[in-house]
Amino acid sequence: ARIRDSLSSLYKSLTNSSSLAIKFIRSRVERMSDRWIKAGRSMKQNGSDADSTEMKVLLYPGALAGKAGQHFEAMVERGGPLGELVQWADLSACLTILGHNLTFSSSQHQLHGLIGAAPGHGGCPIQRPLTFDLIYTDYHGLAHLHGAMGPAFNHYKCRFRILDSFGTEPAFNLASYAQSRGYKTLWGSWGLQPLQYMNMFPHTPDNSFLGFVSEEALRMEPTKDGLEPETYRKERIAVVYGKQDYMWQGKSEYVQIISEELETHGTVYQSSRQSSILPSFVKNHGLLTQEQFLKLLHRAKVFVGLGFPYEGPAPIEAIALGCVFLQPRFDPPHTSDSNNFYKGKPTTRKISSQHPYAEQFIGEPYVLTVDTTNRTAVREAVKSILTTEVKPFTPREFTCVGMLERVHSYITHQNFCSKSVPTWPLESALMVHLGPLGESCVSVCQRSSLWCEPALFHHLNTPAAFTRLGLSCSRMVQEVNHLFPSYNPWGRLCGLQQETLLFSCAGSDPSDRRLCPCSAGQVALCPQCI
Ligand code: UDP
Repeated sequence: ARIRDSLSSLYKSLTNSSSLAIKFIRSRVERMSDRWIKAGRSMKQNGSDADSTEMKVLLYPGALAGKAGQHFEAMVERGGPLGELVQWADLSACLTILGHNLTFSSSQHQLHGLIGAAPGHGGCPIQRPLTFDLIYTDYHGLAHLHGAMGPAFNHYKCRFRILDSFGTEPAFNLASYAQSRGYKTLWGSWGLQPLQYMNMFPHTPDNSFLGFVSEEALRMEPTKDGLEPETYRKERIAVVYGKQDYMWQGKSEYVQIISEELETHGTVYQSSRQSSILPSFVKNHGLLTQEQFLKLLHRAKVFVGLGFPYEGPAPIEAIALGCVFLQPRFDPPHTSDSNNFYKGKPTTRKISSQHPYAEQFIGEPYVLTVDTTNRTAVREAVKSILTTEVKPFTPREFTCVGMLERVHSYITHQNFCSKSVPTWPLESALMVHLGPLGESCVSVCQRSSLWCEPALFHHLNTPAAFTRLGLSCSRMVQEVNHLFPSYNPWGRLCGLQQETLLFSCAGSDPSDRRLCPCSAGQVALCPQCI
């Protein structure tokens, strides 16, 4: 595939639509087009675009199609979720720049025409060969594809990539296992390779991290440490994160403390029929276009999280525009057992704050995570925000170049249709770690500033791996178990994994010491992987 220096082919697939969601996607792509084109050029100059075959790709955001689509559409201008649209916009732009051949559809009817069976003799449908090399969709879309493809679904599912904002852990993914071990949920059980799920943030390394593109601090200024992003001239303004009224419920005391020091702004959708619950001191702009919203963040000193929505793109944009993100800590953490939003989501993650990525991967001084019911803690946080100068900051994985490199690597190296063991990343990236009891490989690797790499599990799923770690096994068992390979010190029991779909970085149990395939490098991709 040859890097393109125009997005015009994408605009063609995004026209002729009265859908507000598609309009949002198109306007985002247009607004960011210069940055995409520039990033594509720099990738070409570095030669990092080599070895790629042009793919025929279908993008099918199922959340925008059918019944779910009607609901989604109705909410676009009423404060409904926009994060998915951000990601679909950025994925389409990224694939277009990378030179792939895209078809974008958000119609269930059209989907049948594109991939469905053709009518055959005697009313018996004939499955046509799938002409797409890759199909990017979401959980809703998976169900539509299943309906449209019939029995061919299983044959072709290795070509699917699922945009899955909150992550799907292996234990929830394999239907028979999920059913027998109590991991059956509303969304899981499709039996894909866990790396086929692509997340908004690097939630679990068992899935691929797709991400999106945030704003970038483009202007650099000379400092004693070299060139750094310029500091914006900030006004004493707080912008509250929450597009809908209900998100503000029970938060007025917290917002009040902030408003004692900063002029407080909101971007809350307000219908003419409803009376607002917003405190009277809040300057509400109503829902803004993305461009207007970003302009407001540009002026603001702090972006204030209320606790919901979870794990969205806006805090990353705010930090990129020089704001501090102030957010609630969740203690105890929210989980799929304890929280309505996460209920049914196929994850065992413990959500320690509104935006765990911002908390753990970015942190202070850009992100302050506080107990928002503790007035003193909130006051101190506000004081520290007012006295600290922060520069705009964008993690590399949220830049156009970062996303281009990542998606290029995935397309070049991830092949879920091959029956042989994965050969990417290379074994040379592997560092085997033996975890303590009860710890998942996600945290074992993270503690050593490494990253759990599930594609490397097969190298350590052998008796020799236990020996190399100095473990003497009284018994070696092979089982279908998402905690394996692992070591149980009580019976000196060594467990090998029998089902490769269950290799899991996320799994942990108090009686098991996990054997972990850690690899060096950054959040998104190890240096050997690019
Ligand atoms: N946004 C917007 N207008 C607003 C507030 C936010 O266009 O008044 C955009 C914002 O730039 C971000 C997107 O909405 O890219 C999604 O933001 P959020 O983090 O709120 O995630 P969501 O819950 O909508 O998925």
